[in-house]
Amino acid sequence: MLTTFAMHQEKAQAFECLITLGHDGVVLDWGNDAQRVFGWTDQEAIGRRLGELLVPASTFAVFERAPDRLDRIVDIRGQHRDGRSLALQCCTWYLGDAARQGFRVSVRDVSQQVLADEILRRSEKHHRAVVEHLGEGMVVIQDDRIVFANRQASEILRVPARELLGMRSVDLLHPQDRDAVAQRLAVRQSGAPLSSHTEIRRLDRDLGLRWLATHSTNASWEDRPATMSFFSDITQRKTLDEALHRSEERYRAVVEHVDDGMVVVKDQRFVFANRRAAEIAQMSVEDMLREGYLHRVHPDDRPIVDARRQLRLAGKPVPNRYEIRLLLPDTTVRWVDIGVTIVPWDGELATLTFFSDVTSRKALEVELKNTLQERETILQSSIVGIAFLTPEGRFKWANDAMLQIFGANRDNHRLVTIESIYESREQYLQVGGQVVESIRNGQAFATELRMRRLDGTPIWASLSGKAVNQFDLSQGTVWVVMDISRRKELESALVKTSSEREAILNTALVGIVLTVGRQHEWVNDKFAEMLGYSREELIGQSTSMVHPDRDVWQRMGTEQQQALLSYGSFTHERQLQRRNGEIFWVQMAGRCVRERDPDSGVIWTFIDITQRRQGEEETRAALIRQRELNELRSRFVSMTSHEFRTPLAGILSSAELLRHYDARLSVSEKSQIIETIEAGVQRMTNMLERVLLIGRAEARMVEFKPTPMALLAQCRSLMVSVLAQHPDSPCTLVEDFPPHECQGVFDAQLLGQIFGNLLGNAIKYSPQGGAVCFRVRQEDTAVVFDVQDHGIGIPLDDLPHLFDAFHRASNVGAIHGTGLGLAIVKSAVELHGGSISVHRVEGGGSRFTVRIPQA
Ligand code: ADP
Repeated sequence: MLTTFAMHQEKAQAFECLITLGHDGVVLDWGNDAQRVFGWTDQEAIGRRLGELLVPASTFAVFERAPDRLDRIVDIRGQHRDGRSLALQCCTWYLGDAARQGFRVSVRDVSQQVLADEILRRSEKHHRAVVEHLGEGMVVIQDDRIVFANRQASEILRVPARELLGMRSVDLLHPQDRDAVAQRLAVRQSGAPLSSHTEIRRLDRDLGLRWLATHSTNASWEDRPATMSFFSDITQRKTLDEALHRSEERYRAVVEHVDDGMVVVKDQRFVFANRRAAEIAQMSVEDMLREGYLHRVHPDDRPIVDARRQLRLAGKPVPNRYEIRLLLPDTTVRWVDIGVTIVPWDGELATLTFFSDVTSRKALEVELKNTLQERETILQSSIVGIAFLTPEGRFKWANDAMLQIFGANRDNHRLVTIESIYESREQYLQVGGQVVESIRNGQAFATELRMRRLDGTPIWASLSGKAVNQFDLSQGTVWVVMDISRRKELESALVKTSSEREAILNTALVGIVLTVGRQHEWVNDKFAEMLGYSREELIGQSTSMVHPDRDVWQRMGTEQQQALLSYGSFTHERQLQRRNGEIFWVQMAGRCVRERDPDSGVIWTFIDITQRRQGEEETRAALIRQRELNELRSRFVSMTSHEFRTPLAGILSSAELLRHYDARLSVSEKSQIIETIEAGVQRMTNMLERVLLIGRAEARMVEFKPTPMALLAQCRSLMVSVLAQHPDSPCTLVEDFPPHECQGVFDAQLLGQIFGNLLGNAIKYSPQGGAVCFRVRQEDTAVVFDVQDHGIGIPLDDLPHLFDAFHRASNVGAIHGTGLGLAIVKSAVELHGGSISVHRVEGGGSRFTVRIPQA
């Protein structure tokens, strides 16, 4: 519009002309410009009055009569030669300084400008109407304030028009959006590029939050820069948008998180696939959308999937759910269960398929089927009858063996209810009652019954039944039935013969036992009598109950098992234990019931051999004693032959000296000879005393009279008397006693024998001298004595026999002795309830330790 207007103005400039008139108003000069403006040529115009040329007459008249308009621009209306009306602006002035010299008229054709003005005027009116009736609000902002607002703006903003004008524009907005808008305004005004559209919030006093969509541009307002903003209320759309967004988000979340794969197929392609679908197909969602929809479907299943889709889209009935296979890149086959429906998609029909991976379920199904088949085969081919019954006692299923037992056959089996195989209705009801009771208590029911076949013949059956599911009795019962007629027959035959045999076996004089798996299956009266139990107590019990030592029983088990397997029989002698704990000897002999098969049972006979064993024991003991006596005698003989002969020889030679040389012998020589005789006699007396003492000790005739005593004092006096007996000994006696007196109860005489002998030996067997240490110490429950020397010591071989009577070690050499001292010591220690031990001392010598308990 503005462009058109400017153009007219330019044209108007072009149509400006100067005309010279005479004082009478006749045209004197008419230039080309005048011809262009008015259409008249200069020949036509010159000589004529200007008023005539610029008809209409009204204008002419005005023009003619208006000399007062000189020097002023006057708007007049004129006419072109062709009759067109012209809008003119004229300015008239004198050529000289008065009218008589003529006039100069400047005429400007402003028709175009007027026209443009008119257009503008009309268009502004039109614009104002547009602006006012615009669906949008519009404001003009200048210097941050509203300088114009249309009616809609006031309505949308809910602010009266008069209040709007002059308001700061940002005050209209939500506080949180103010900074951003102010920034945008500044950017826009600086002329920097900025998107014209934006969405901003407004906080109404009464309506709360509202959204406005605005569109702003720079404009000029009263020749100064301003911002023109158009806006509309989009609160409703926003709310809807948000709701939609939320529901879309929810929908997406559901679709993405659903455990089923979801795909939409349109035109043989996936147009949608969720994450799970991609997971199951082992492809990315993008790849799925690119590939054809049958890409992962197993080639064998593709035709059926495709055919069903076609039919479904054609509106034909097709199953909505079925299972197909996928073929994965690693060649594994995956079973999916799919559910298909038709959905509109972008205005066309598409199929929406849900699918889930059922590979493991399929595998389980196959496994279950196989197991069931296997079980059925096992049940079917079992030789015992197996049947499932309904809670009402009707047959649900029975295997061949079951039909055979009761004489039914599969094609025409009359085995409908269990009642038909009972002997009578009474029996059926009675047994039924028991069955119900056991099953209700969660127990299996088992019995042996006389029943009948379908043909009426009697049969013995072993029945055992239990609930298929203890907690749901409506699932019925399962029964195992065996025909035991033959066994029953044999049993009754056996009962007769067995009772006869049992009578025989029971009267047998030997114990007879049948064991199976080391348990008494059967024992006879004699065996029970031997052990002091009743037969009932023994039967059914482990054979270990009559054996005194479990470890021995266990070892014997292995031994006898091997013998029974290799030879079929086993005999040995062993001890058994009676009920009263008494141990006695038996000879037991076993033989397998079936040749070399101990598992079939072993028949044992037991003979009490206690007396024989006792006799044997006694004989053995007597023999040992005899041997010992023999040894003792030879040791006695060798001792006496040496120990008696030496003093006797001395006595004899002394007596001969006295007899033959009596007169020649001096008094001192005689008394020396008599001393030798006395010493010999003394030595033999000592020896005899010892022999007597050991004899009394062995015959347990030594008296034991313990009395409380001051022990250390007693020991010290013993040491003194021992030293006195060995006046020439190079040994020193050293005591190692506790600081305080030890109180104890001892037999003083026996104590004298014990330590007299031990200390005496220590000195006697230390010919080279050295210290003999006598140590006494008090322990909690005993007094311990040590006698240690550094003498000749004791050879290792002699140690075990050192305390035997008449035993002397091999290293005694010329040191005389009887070998009785230590035997006496030992018996004296034992009378005190104590013990004695001997040790070799490192570097030569011996140590005897006596321990005597104190209460
Ligand atoms: P004897 O009269 O021979 O000494 P004993 O019964 O006292 O008889 O001792 C038996 C044997 O024990 C002795 O002959 C000797 O060989 C050995 N014996 C005993 N005490 C000692 C000892 N202190 N040192 C070495 N040998 C000893």
